[in-house]
Amino acid sequence: MKTVIVTGSTSGIGLGIAEAFASAGHNIVLNGLGSAAEIEATRSRLAGLGAGDVLFHGANMLKPDEIADLVTTAAAKFGSVDVLVANAGIQHVEKIEDFPPEKWDAIIAINLSSAFHLIRAAMPILKEQKWGRIISIASAHGLVASPYKSAYVAAKHGMLGLIKTVALEGAECGITANAICPGYVETPLVTGQIADTAKARDMSEEDVINEVILKAQPTRQFVQVSQIAALAVYLASDQAAQITGAALPMDGGWTAQ
Ligand code: NAD
Repeated sequence: MKTVIVTGSTSGIGLGIAEAFASAGHNIVLNGLGSAAEIEATRSRLAGLGAGDVLFHGANMLKPDEIADLVTTAAAKFGSVDVLVANAGIQHVEKIEDFPPEKWDAIIAINLSSAFHLIRAAMPILKEQKWGRIISIASAHGLVASPYKSAYVAAKHGMLGLIKTVALEGAECGITANAICPGYVETPLVTGQIADTAKARDMSEEDVINEVILKAQPTRQFVQVSQIAALAVYLASDQAAQITGAALPMDGGWTAQ
């Protein structure tokens, strides 16, 4: 039984990943924003999925000391930390000349720096036990750009650099670090940006879905949360021990073009 920390796991992709690891019998540390009642309902539902226990820690990914406390609390409760899934993220879509500087700062902090703080706090534990799995939920936007997403694209490209560096530092200690690079997944993060994209591009929301979002993906289908979760579970397995420093697209062919 492993202990798996998933940042931003109260919703969307992170929640799906937490469910998959809980179903596989592992201890889970849930994290993210939301109402206390909803979070407790999620926590207790996940605790019923498998043999492991589920702890919620409300660390704000903007706050390095809270992220460090998340790792310390998880290690104290479960005796170890084995798998880190750096997933928390936000988006803002706007022309660079109108892009609010505070949105830039928040996106870099939540989508990139929080992973640094998480890994930094947990690395001594992973090195000591000579086993660890670090998985980042980056994006196709870690590999290619789209207009109006300057902060997000910069953060996700930066994430790939962080993951490659950590892969090299952990390579002789049984630690792998990889980035999953999903294309579009229908979660609250994407639903929220459809209206903003429509405004930025002067298009209807329906046209944004068909002409911008699914147009990017040759399969013309959204990626499913369960598909990303299955890849994360595989990357955490011993069979994936030689996959490290990789950026793995799951984008319906988007970045093959
Ligand atoms: P989502 O909005 O459904 O979930 C985001 C999660 O992050 C939530 O649990 C939220 O509470 C948490 N979060 C946000 N700000 C936080 C903060 N300050 N502190 C702690 N937690 C915070 O979004 P999602 O689509 O599931 O996105 C998850 C990750 O996947 C993000 O990194 C995103 O960039 C990436 N991603 C998403 C897509 C997509 O199409 N949805 C595609 C590629 C990559």
